Amino acid sequence: MTPDASLAPTAPPCVPPGGRPSPWELAVGPAPEHWDDWTELDATAWPRRKERHYRCVPTICFNCESACGLLAFVDKETGDIAKFEGNPVHPGSRGRTCAKGPATINQVQDTERILTPLKRDGPRGSGKFREATWDEALDDIGGRIRKAFAEERQDEVVYHVGRPGEDNFVMRMLQAWGVDGHNSHTNVCSAGARLGYALWFGADRPSPDYSGTKFMLLLSAHLETGHYFNPHAQRIIAAKESGARMAVVDVRLSNTASHANHWISPWPGTEAAMLLGVARELLRSGRFDAEFLKRWVNWKEYLEVHDAEGDGTFERFVEKLQHLYVDYTPEFVAQECHVPLDTVMKLADEIAEAGSRFSSHLWRNTAAGHLGGWQVARALLFLHVLSGSVGTQGGLNPNSWDKFVPHPTENPPPITRWNERHWPREYPLAHYEMSFLLPHLLRDQDARIDTYFTRVYNPVWTNPDGCSWIEMLEDEKRIGCHVALTPIWSESAQWADWVLPMGLGPERHDIMSQETHAGTWIGFRQPVGREYLRQSGQPQDTTLGTNPGQVWEESEFWIALTWRIDPDGSQGIRKYFESKANPGQPVSVDEYFGDIFENSVPGLPEAAATAGCTPLEYMRRFGAFGVPYAGQRRYETDAPEGGGVELDSGEKKVGFKTPSGKLEFFSPTLEEWGFGDLSVPGYIHSQVHRENLDMDAGERVLMPTFRLPTLIHTRSGNAKWLQEISHTNPLWIHPEDAVALGVANGGLARVTTAIGYFVIRAWVTEGIHPGIVAASHHVGRWRMHREIGGQRRASALVDIQRDGSTFLFRQKEKAGAYKSDDPDSERVWWTETGVHQNMTFPVQPDPLSGMHCWHQKVTVTSAHEEDRYGDVFVDTAKSREVYEEWRAMTKPAPGPGGLRRPLWMNRPLRPVDEAFRI
Ligand code: SF4
Repeated sequence: MTPDASLAPTAPPCVPPGGRPSPWELAVGPAPEHWDDWTELDATAWPRRKERHYRCVPTICFNCESACGLLAFVDKETGDIAKFEGNPVHPGSRGRTCAKGPATINQVQDTERILTPLKRDGPRGSGKFREATWDEALDDIGGRIRKAFAEERQDEVVYHVGRPGEDNFVMRMLQAWGVDGHNSHTNVCSAGARLGYALWFGADRPSPDYSGTKFMLLLSAHLETGHYFNPHAQRIIAAKESGARMAVVDVRLSNTASHANHWISPWPGTEAAMLLGVARELLRSGRFDAEFLKRWVNWKEYLEVHDAEGDGTFERFVEKLQHLYVDYTPEFVAQECHVPLDTVMKLADEIAEAGSRFSSHLWRNTAAGHLGGWQVARALLFLHVLSGSVGTQGGLNPNSWDKFVPHPTENPPPITRWNERHWPREYPLAHYEMSFLLPHLLRDQDARIDTYFTRVYNPVWTNPDGCSWIEMLEDEKRIGCHVALTPIWSESAQWADWVLPMGLGPERHDIMSQETHAGTWIGFRQPVGREYLRQSGQPQDTTLGTNPGQVWEESEFWIALTWRIDPDGSQGIRKYFESKANPGQPVSVDEYFGDIFENSVPGLPEAAATAGCTPLEYMRRFGAFGVPYAGQRRYETDAPEGGGVELDSGEKKVGFKTPSGKLEFFSPTLEEWGFGDLSVPGYIHSQVHRENLDMDAGERVLMPTFRLPTLIHTRSGNAKWLQEISHTNPLWIHPEDAVALGVANGGLARVTTAIGYFVIRAWVTEGIHPGIVAASHHVGRWRMHREIGGQRRASALVDIQRDGSTFLFRQKEKAGAYKSDDPDSERVWWTETGVHQNMTFPVQPDPLSGMHCWHQKVTVTSAHEEDRYGDVFVDTAKSREVYEEWRAMTKPAPGPGGLRRPLWMNRPLRPVDEAFRI
């Protein structure tokens, strides 16, 4: 096939958005017509002018969930990948990346990555492993699962995912297996925000349209770390360059805040009060879109329940609104949130001025830190409803409009089970599985898991209360077999029975799509080595052998494992992974993804035909496709026969995916499930409200919910450039607090939580709200064994002293220079690699959303005489007590109709409706 730039569906102009004129190649990477033979001078040959020739192969970054397009430059002389840049024809990332995209080359070349399957060869946790074959792994794991299915122990097979990085493949597989075995990391990430959004408009994420926006209100440090970092960051900066204004609400002076017109630093957990103050001001001054409110909000339902004696008019509803929020005055907000008195008026003016071109984003700490954090999303979307900026250009879309997930032609039926280890009755409205409670739930239910997959997931380190995870993982009565699917070592993999080396971003097939803007696209991650060989005329049957060592891709692994579980097809499982072209054979990845691209992506077959290739070849060639966009204001579309919502005007429109079909200011669901006092946007005092703190006794709030922008969740140690840039997590502390607490800049501080303490170096800065201390997560790695368990440049070797339910982690060897095949390993100049704070946090599950409330009430002192940098002490008996205190706040199912969960509320792996009933 001849490469042709005109084939690219959404090729950006040579002058990129934002108006910085520069040659295409320098701005966003080479255009597709140059991909077959791209020439650059070899920098290492300087001063000679030695040319090197590359073939550029597109793939998708795997270092966060943004799914940016990458171009791998494969050296034609060696066949090795030389570097990664952005893919200029990717509609989401448009040729740009953050630092983590190009650092993919470090991950590929890392001398400490795992290159072969490993099987435990000693007691679990002993660090003893032996090399094994994939065949042995498939036989062992497939046999276990087959036996579990035969004995109707389906609930004992669990897939626990950290970084998903793909759409639908695994969900479809679990559905084919018939297990309710999906466990995600959502409840330590974003469940709070998701519940708030879902209650309003039935979609659980915001998708801001920064194009044409006039005002952006960003809560938390999302521009540099969250959803969706690079795709959003470039659009936010472009909007700013076009004159849009921006306010950032973040306790910490983040990189994002440094770009803002207004940096607002409230007391953490009070954000909903501030947003409701803005709502009050918009209502009081009459600066709201009454027509939109009247047409699209379920105000009649509200009046029927909360104003039965009233006249039922819209005017009455507005009166009720004004009354509901009358107490959220600027003075109250200033005092409650610890912000300047003019904060409410400034925000209200900006939003009123922007009208339908008001955009916002909310992720991480404001909704993920606090009891009742979900109400922050409720309050924020309320401002969009008032300004009429829902689904408008420059406003805010439901995420479901801007993401496109294609499916294979044939799909298994929904599962029929409900697994209470993931969906316990105590949390009927949780969004989603209560995964971080697993050790407590297994103990409460006296349950076990036979085969436990952790897939690019490191629960011991990522989750709160990691020592309870250690106790669970080392107990073979609770966990029969732990299979860690991971490209690199992690804390959790140290307690695995199988460590299986999965492919990195350029070593695997996945389809991905994300709501990066008002548009839809799909991206295709592919194994670069394999595709390079195909384009060079040497097509391969399998990815194994085209990746380094024995590294395999997951799609082929799961297909092979499914065949071991159901070798003769008698269980009705393997047929979903059987070739149609070669009956009786496993489906190939070419056939699997070719079917999807051929039959499930509108416009792709036509674009491929124009290019003179198949849809699969098109995706392999360009790596992304812009799916025709269905537009905004979609709720105004005429409803199909028998569906939709009837408006007061008598029109029938598709509306929103809520029970009423409207935007639900009032949530009948919360009312019916016993949360009537919380059924409208409101403000809940959090666990770190000032009234809960004794400041004189040294109590402060710890904010651990931010990440430095160059860090990958649990995989930064695998990328030496990133590790050199950021490898420690000092405790941010305001000068006033440093003086009051006797903590010196650069000195050691002890931070004590409800279940333990950690010892960390202090950084005195005015970039944090007084009364709050903060430490970045994503560093503080540790390993128990010198040779395995973690990258040496990124982790400390620790000694773990145990006594009953207590653990003391003490570093016995810090990071430093070491010998390897990479000369850079001898240039490691740093020794401190941060402190693992998450282990000292008890679980604090929000009783509604199920979100772990990350922020901690702590006591801060200077370090004690016996303390050492990096010390971590935990008592799991205390963590159980805290778990029980928080569990006591729940209102367990059954709800109305004997339901475990409202039928309209989704689940990632949704069973049949009957399974929702107890
Ligand atoms: S934003 Fe995420 S997907 Fe994009 S380049 Fe950075 S790490 Fe990769």
